[in-house]
Amino acid sequence: MYRGSLAEIDLTAISYNLKIIKGMSKSSAIMAVVKADAYGHGSVNVAKRLVQDKVDFLSVAFSEEAKELRQAGIDSPIIVLFDPDPVDIITYNLIPVIIDKKSAISLSKEAEKKNKQINVHIKVDTGMGRLGLIGDEIQSIIEIASLKGIKINGIMSHFSDSDSKDTSFALTQIRRFNELKTELSKAGLNIDIFHMANSAAIMSLPESHFDAVRPGLILYGVSPFENESTKNLDLPLLQAMSLKTRLVSLRKVPNNSSISYGKTFITKRESLIGVIAIGYADGFCRMFSNNAHVLIKGYRVPVVGRVCMDLTMVDLTDIKNIVTEQDEVVIMGRQGNEFISACELAHKAGTISYEILTSFGKMATRKVYKD
Ligand SMILES: *Cc1c(COP(=O)(O)O)cnc(C)c1O
Repeated sequence: MYRGSLAEIDLTAISYNLKIIKGMSKSSAIMAVVKADAYGHGSVNVAKRLVQDKVDFLSVAFSEEAKELRQAGIDSPIIVLFDPDPVDIITYNLIPVIIDKKSAISLSKEAEKKNKQINVHIKVDTGMGRLGLIGDEIQSIIEIASLKGIKINGIMSHFSDSDSKDTSFALTQIRRFNELKTELSKAGLNIDIFHMANSAAIMSLPESHFDAVRPGLILYGVSPFENESTKNLDLPLLQAMSLKTRLVSLRKVPNNSSISYGKTFITKRESLIGVIAIGYADGFCRMFSNNAHVLIKGYRVPVVGRVCMDLTMVDLTDIKNIVTEQDEVVIMGRQGNEFISACELAHKAGTISYEILTSFGKMATRKVYKD
């Protein structure tokens, strides 16, 4: 018997979401973000689909991820967001994001040695407080521009809270980025591409779109706004990942029986308890104990008791006359008219949908792709 869960990835949904993104930022290039194994969806399969759909760039976190795409035959421009390792950049023909002068110099040396010209993007910190040039940016960019073997093609920045209801800090970041853009042009530096928008900014801050946008989460059909009603943004995104498992056992238990470790759930009636093949080792975290639903036969049924390592119990008493051991169990996704979103699960687990997708995707023992 297979363990655990099956992640079903709907590539058509990703194409559909991409179309929506293109509609929102018509004059910007698309830098599709496929880091962290395409947010758990499988980077090679997703990237192949995105290339077919003509995205302009792919972006990954580390060069190892880019190497995997190259080895799968993907030859589109790939931006490496966090890892400017000079040897990998040259070997795999990648576009590094330069975060300081030091990394620019070592890249320049390697490029000269190999007699290559490398296109780079430079990151400036307009308020994220993570990576990028900070203070004297113009001077640093001018110095980097004078290095041999590298050419600055793009300048980028990243938002710290573009998903917030209060857009004032995001607008400050955009203003800083615009000022930098003006000063660079005054200094006579011609740079092709300015980019800073992530999913939330693509949806809510059109003034952040510049020459290119970097969608991640919305490509996979999940809104970055935890509570979508806080913003009037009803994009018809399609969630690409569904997570499914199956029933291991159906058990009739008497009233007043305790269920699972710690006896945190006691039945209040004669009950039908289903044991399903998913647990925290599959990314179905312990926060879901007595605190989530799954779909069976098109109904929402509650998780009861603690989530275990490989198994979880659900209360099937309300559907006891129709449920069978062969029934499919949907942890996340659609079944009949019911839908469990990544946002719903994130909310219950006290986290964000990004973490739900990456952990389900990483831990699912099988992935299947639907075209
Ligand atoms: C992850 C990432 C993105 C994409 O963010 P989403 O919120 O998923 O759209 C964009 N830019 C950078 C620098 C990132 O690290």
